[in-house]
Formats: sequence, structure tokens, C-alpha cells
Amino acid sequence: MARAPQHPDSEVLISWFADQGRDLPWRLRGTPAWHILISEVMLQQTPVARVLPIWLDWTRRWPTPSAMAAASPAEVLRAWGKLGYPRRALRLHECARVLAEQHGDEVPADVDTLLGLPGVGAYTARAIACFAYGQRVPVVDINVRRVIARTVHGQGDPGPASTTRDLADVAAALPVGQRRAAQYSAALMELGALVCTARKPGCDRCPLPECAWRAAGFPTYDGPKRPTQRFEGTDRQARGRLLDVLRDAPGPVDRTLLDLAWTVDPGQRDRALDSLLVDGLIEQTDTGLFALPGELSPG
Ligand code: SF4
Repeated sequence: MARAPQHPDSEVLISWFADQGRDLPWRLRGTPAWHILISEVMLQQTPVARVLPIWLDWTRRWPTPSAMAAASPAEVLRAWGKLGYPRRALRLHECARVLAEQHGDEVPADVDTLLGLPGVGAYTARAIACFAYGQRVPVVDINVRRVIARTVHGQGDPGPASTTRDLADVAAALPVGQRRAAQYSAALMELGALVCTARKPGCDRCPLPECAWRAAGFPTYDGPKRPTQRFEGTDRQARGRLLDVLRDAPGPVDRTLLDLAWTVDPGQRDRALDSLLVDGLIEQTDTGLFALPGELSPG
């Protein structure tokens, strides 16, 4: 008979986290939910070391949603710096406005209400409910998926994401009790970030010796693969270069400056420029100049 899947031991994992987890400022007790929301949005697709200084700057500048709502989109985009995927900054700005106008300048605690906010998806909504409000909800990112795939299913790679299956998978592993479940989620995520990494898992310093993948002798994963993302030479890189020009300029700029920022492929540059306009990340004046949103000179 097949052995029932064994979930990572909560006692062991939580005590490992208390001992080895990083002292990140957004994890400090009493951190406002708004600051945690900012950290969660920034940490999607950007490493901790790059997020830290920007998060400190943002939470100082905009300690409340209404403070950010009062800033212009151009200010917010400039302060986003080079964190990448700048649509996240615009969505956060929009989210700040909705929180200020419709939620009494507070971040709601309930997952369904959170899901209705601009830029808040399945992961972020549950991360806020769990890390800001200590609720027992599954929080699933790539690190958590990898740890569960290895420890529970004996697979080296979690394969493509499936929200329903992944949430159910992690929900089944959560210990009873709100606070412990929240600590467990943070610990799972940290283990995936620091020890059970994608390329070189540190099994010799892992607190989970009962791991199914390890017990099976680390079989090679041959299931469906997740799409890989490259950056060099992509439209995303071209968009970043064009946006850098506008972020560094004191006001609207001429098209020539943008043309000089990406000379690799003019067709790709045009495409990148169009998509930035469509996404509302830049605007064009009647006279053909380009600027960050909300800072066009009159006339
Ligand atoms: S034993 Fe190795 S593969 Fe298993 S959870 Fe720990 S680090 Fe990951």
C-alpha cells in the first residue's frame, strides 16, 4: 500500500525558522499591514537585497496608503528605481488610492476583500492575511511549491503552477492554530529561499531529514517544465532602458533620446515604446515628447 504523504514537521520547521530565519524589517512584530503589502509586491520577482533599500525608502516616504495616494504616478515610478516589472509600482499606487478612499486608509484582513484590490493576486492576498494578520491560510510561492514537491511528493521540481492544486497541497500541510500556521508558512518559504534552493539544495544543513525526494535518492525530474525567463535582449529589457531615460530626466524628453537608449533593434524599440504607452507607464505630449505619467508640461 502506498505510504501517506508526510508533511514537513511543524515543530522542527518553526524552531529552525526561529533560529535561522533572516531578520528582515517587514517581519518585525508590529509592522503595519500596508508596509507588509509593499514588501510582498516588491518581493515578487525581485530579490531581497534589491528590495530592502527601496522598501525602507517607500515606507518612510509613504507610511500610509493616503500618503502614497497623494503622490504622483511619476514620483512613484521614480522611487521604484530598478526593481523591474514597473507595472507593480503603478498598481500599488492605485491600490493606495482605493485603500485611502474605500477602506479607511487600512489594509483589509480578509482574503476575498484583499483579492478585490488593484494589483493584489492569489499570492499577495494570502500573504497579507497570513503575515500581517496571522491567519491560517495557505501562502504559495515558488519556494513553498519546491519544498512541498520535494518533501511530500518526492519530486525535485514542482513543475508548472496550478493555483487550486497548489493551495490545496499547502493547506493540507498547515498545522492547526492560526499563529502556528502563519509561522509555518513563513518557515516553509524561508527554507526554500535559503536551503532547499532550486539548483543546489543544502540537504546537509536541512532540518527535514524525512524529505521524500532525499529518501528516494534524488530522482531526476522528468515531468512538465515551467517556462524559463531570460532577460538579455528581450522586450522587457528594452522597456526598462526606455523607462530609465524618463526616470532620469527632469521632464519630458524628445524621441531621439529614447532611440539612443535601445539601438539593438529599432522594431523592438518601437514595440517596447508602444507597450509602455498602452500600460500607462509613459505618456506622450501633443508636441510628440515623452514623459512619466502625470508630469507632462501644460501645453
Ligand atoms: S533534504 Fe534537501 S531536498 Fe529535501 S527539503 Fe531538505 S534541502 Fe530540500
